[in-house]
Amino acid sequence: MARIGFIGLGNMGGPMAVNLVKAGHDVIAFDLVEAALERVRAAGAKTAGTVWEAVRDVEFVVSMLPAGRHVEGVYLALENNACLLDEIAAETVIIDCSTIAADTARKVAAAARERSRRMLDAPVSGGVGGAEAGTLTFMVGGDAAVVDAARPVLEAMGKNVFHAGESGAGQVAKMCNNMLLAVLMTGTAEAIQLGVANGLDPSVLSDIMQQSSGGNWALNVYNPYPGVMDGVPASRGYSGGFLVDLMIKDLTLAMDGAAASGQTTPMGALARSLYVLHKNRGTAEQDDAGTLDFSSIQKLFSG
Ligand code: NAD
Repeated sequence: MARIGFIGLGNMGGPMAVNLVKAGHDVIAFDLVEAALERVRAAGAKTAGTVWEAVRDVEFVVSMLPAGRHVEGVYLALENNACLLDEIAAETVIIDCSTIAADTARKVAAAARERSRRMLDAPVSGGVGGAEAGTLTFMVGGDAAVVDAARPVLEAMGKNVFHAGESGAGQVAKMCNNMLLAVLMTGTAEAIQLGVANGLDPSVLSDIMQQSSGGNWALNVYNPYPGVMDGVPASRGYSGGFLVDLMIKDLTLAMDGAAASGQTTPMGALARSLYVLHKNRGTAEQDDAGTLDFSSIQKLFSG
């Protein structure tokens, strides 16, 4: 079993670190928030007083941070002329699971390579439920040999590990997937509302489309219309799940990626605009819809 430093114990990182403990690994965890440390301590992880302490004498470092600036800050910020990458041993495998721009992932991985450190970008799909259940999908960018070395650690937190390509490729796969997810969700919500406005029962319409050519993951597994499906955010006031704010973040990364590569992504751009409009318009219950699940885009169509 491995000794693993874990940085960032939020909604995703907390349960991921706990799953590593459950798999028998020796986890030393760090977060800026004491309550987050307390939760993993209760599950059997050790906790560190500083991020430097969390990466000393470990075989793997896993980070799960909010955004690119946090990842750059943690790994590259200088303290006494050294950054965290300097502190990490050359044999250690560094796995950043945060969702960030591919360019930022490449920049940090290049800084790691300059120091002969081994680093992967490994963003995830599956949300908080997948993090808790240990069923995440990892989309990994980096050297194949390093991916193989990381596989046992990733498999303790997820059920699928895909090697997408070189550094940054995991982030590219993640931005493409989430852009498509946003397009599918907005299209599904729009279609169901069209049927309802024309007298159809949303459950009957969903059954029909699921078995027809309109079937897709948002419709079949994560139906956005309240009451159609049990156990999804739409049936509990859009609480829990994947936040509108995070979807906007991911769509913004996709738009930046499109601009950087000279691609037009009209569907993704429209989906981003609709999510920003939804966030800003809010709902009858709250001014800002950013903290609702992303399937709440249904409310933009249903009012
Ligand atoms: P979160 O805000 O709940 O957790 C982030 C944690 O990082 C917090 O506990 C924060 O205190 C900690 N942190 C910030 N700066 C730090 C630092 N310098 N040192 C140590 N800890 C620091 O976010 P989350 O929902 O866990 O998401 C983490 C990442 O996973 C994001 O990039 C997000 O886009 C991605 N993601 C989230 C979901 C989801 O459903 N929540 C799904 C897939 C991917």
